Order: sequence, then C-alpha cells, then structure tokens
Amino acid sequence: MKKTKGTIVRRNKIPENEGIPLSTPLSASVMYHYENIEQVKALNEKKIEGFSYARYANPNAKILAEKISWLEDAKGGFITASGMSALSCVFLALLKKGDTIAASKQLYGQSLKMLTKMLPRMGFETKFFDSSDPSTFAEAITPTTKIILVEIESNPLLRITYFDELVKVAKESSALIMVDNTFTTPSGYKPLNHGATLVMHSVSKILSGHSDLNLGYIGSNDDKLLEDIDELIANFGLNSNPFNCWLAERGLHTFDLRFKEAQRNAAKLAALLEDHPKISKLYYPGLASHPEHLLAKTMLKGNFGTIVSFVLKGDYTNVNNFLNAAKDIPYGSTLGDVSTLVVVPSISSHRHLNKEERLALGIEDTLIRVSLGIEAFSLIKNDFLTGLEEA
Ligand SMILES: *Cc1c(COP(=O)(O)O)cnc(C)c1O
Repeated sequence: MKKTKGTIVRRNKIPENEGIPLSTPLSASVMYHYENIEQVKALNEKKIEGFSYARYANPNAKILAEKISWLEDAKGGFITASGMSALSCVFLALLKKGDTIAASKQLYGQSLKMLTKMLPRMGFETKFFDSSDPSTFAEAITPTTKIILVEIESNPLLRITYFDELVKVAKESSALIMVDNTFTTPSGYKPLNHGATLVMHSVSKILSGHSDLNLGYIGSNDDKLLEDIDELIANFGLNSNPFNCWLAERGLHTFDLRFKEAQRNAAKLAALLEDHPKISKLYYPGLASHPEHLLAKTMLKGNFGTIVSFVLKGDYTNVNNFLNAAKDIPYGSTLGDVSTLVVVPSISSHRHLNKEERLALGIEDTLIRVSLGIEAFSLIKNDFLTGLEEA
C-alpha cells in the first residue's frame, strides 16, 4: 500500500516474530480480523479457536480467568468488571420469575444492599440466615430458593460459616450454593471442592493485591451454568477490560506469597492486641476465644486469614486520636492491599444502616477493621502501639 497521510490509518500486520513473549502481552484490540468468511464461519461454529469482539472475550481476561479457576479447582470461569458485577451476573443469569434467594446476613455491605434494596425492586426477595448458626439454615431455604449466597469468613467480625451443615440443608432443596470467597481466598478454602456450585471473587482485593483495579471472577464446574454466565456477561456488558486483566494477572503471580505473609502479620497483630488496655474486643479466628475457633482450625486448616478487627474503648474521638497517631497506616475501605489498611465500618462499609441495625450485626461505632499488608511487622507494631497510646 502506498504510504501517504491518508493511508496511515490502514492497519499494519503485527511484525513477524518467531519468539514467544515470556510475559502475557496486553491485547487491547477490540476487534479481531480474519482472512476470509470461511474462517469467520468456523469461528462462529466454534470449529477454530479465536476471539472476535472484546465484549465476548479477550485474551487477557481468558488467561486471568484460567489462572483463578486453577486456584479454585474450577473447570471454568469468567472475569467481570468488578466483584459486584460478578454477583449481578449470577443473579441475572439464574433468577426467573418466582425464584427467591437465601443469604447469610453477614455479607459484604454492598451485597446486602443489592439483596435488600435493589433485587426486591425487580421482584426477588431474600430470606436471611446466620451462617455461623446452623439452626437458622432450614427456615431460610424454601422450595422457591434458587441461590444461597454466603461468605466463608464474614466482614468485619470474621465469623466462620458452618459450610458442611449448609451443604447438607441445601441438598434437601433445589437451591445451589454460591460462595463469595474474597475474604477467605482459594489459599484458605476452595468452596467448589466442598459442595458449592459457584464461587466468586472481588479480584480488586488480595488476588490482584495492589489496589489499582476493579475486577470480579465467577467460576464453576457446571458446564451449562458456565455457558449461561458467559452469554449473560456478553449480553449485559458486564465484561472486564484487557488492561485491568493484564495488571491483575501480574498481581496474581505473587498472591499466595502475599497471602501467607499478610496472614503471618495478622497472627502477630492479634497477639499484640490481645489484652491491650485500650481495646474492649478483639476479633480474629485464630484466638481460642473466637466462637468458631475450632471450626476455623479444622475447616480452614488454620488459615485464620489476613484481617483483624477490634473495638476501641470510648467513642469517635478515641478513633480519631488513634487514626491521627497511627497516620502511616492508610485509611482505606478496601482490603488485601500490599499495605496494611484500617477502616471504621460504622462510617464506611455499613454506613447505610442505622445505628440500631449496625449494633444488631455487632458493628459498634468504634470497631476498627485492619487488613494486614506485607510490610515488616516491626513497622506495623510501632504504628499500632503509637496509635493506641494516643487513642
Ligand atoms: C470488595 C468486595 C466485593 C465487591 O467487589 P468490587 O470489586 O469492589 O465490586 C464483594 N464481596 C466482598 C467480600 C468484597 O470484599
């Protein structure tokens, strides 16, 4: 083709290259070009492998999904724009008129909002149970229940779900179980190996680990479900973008190392804070005083997680004093970052509830949730001791 100003927008062939890139190339292209209509037909009939349009699938999302599926022992999975879009996707793909949901009342704040404010508007009601009290399961799971949603480790009080008991009760019904495994991570528990049909993640958190992207994941071993979810993501436009997937894959490579280190830091912080005079309650499943300590020991094989929560004595003034004195620890409502983060759930994740509703969930005003990072523990120790001294 003649090289002129007018032809510069014509596409070049990507340079020939016999070498195989060692790290995953970022594939930003929205369209994929095929040489002739025979190829296009073969692609449409799934006789050849290939991509067509990025909303349907893109190489970076595919690679990332395969790697998370590998960690979760899932046959297949998909990446969505965020954790919340993964959740939306499952509800939109599975619910039909007349279906209901059963869910743990200890869920991520925005998930609770979806169940109590958004879905009822579309005619889908949720019955709640207490995931750490098996006696509440049977009543919430009815003949119309289609999906049961739980987290293994609750936010921010770190109660543990009696998952085997839940699976037993669910088996009596036609409901399928979906686990939001964001807090526990596949290094702590793999729900698909224990009776869940679907597992989801906010990849924005510790899987990617650097607080620089929003993505979600949904995985399953059920081919038909995977097909329905794939179709729904493309149709409702819940897909991810290649750049975020590329970044997340890079983060995922160090996920297990970061998880182990953050978990070690959490255990050390819990030991440091236990019996501290400025603290009235400490929540951490590794403590013998935790109500599901034994369950966490057996079910999670001692993976007590990367979060520690505590209640500061006093009121918001004391919280302010603590935060000001421990100013090297960023205040952040996310979790799973390389840096240790603190958040006050009563004014962040659970602010849409009134005080009475919050207290019913055990969320006191001065509750502080700590998401441990991978810094040297000496730094964390110094920050907390200084913060508590001034609180
Ligand atoms: C953050 C989070 C979500 C939502 O994920 P986004 O990526 O922020 O949309 C869902 N569940 C849990 C447990 C989370 O921590």
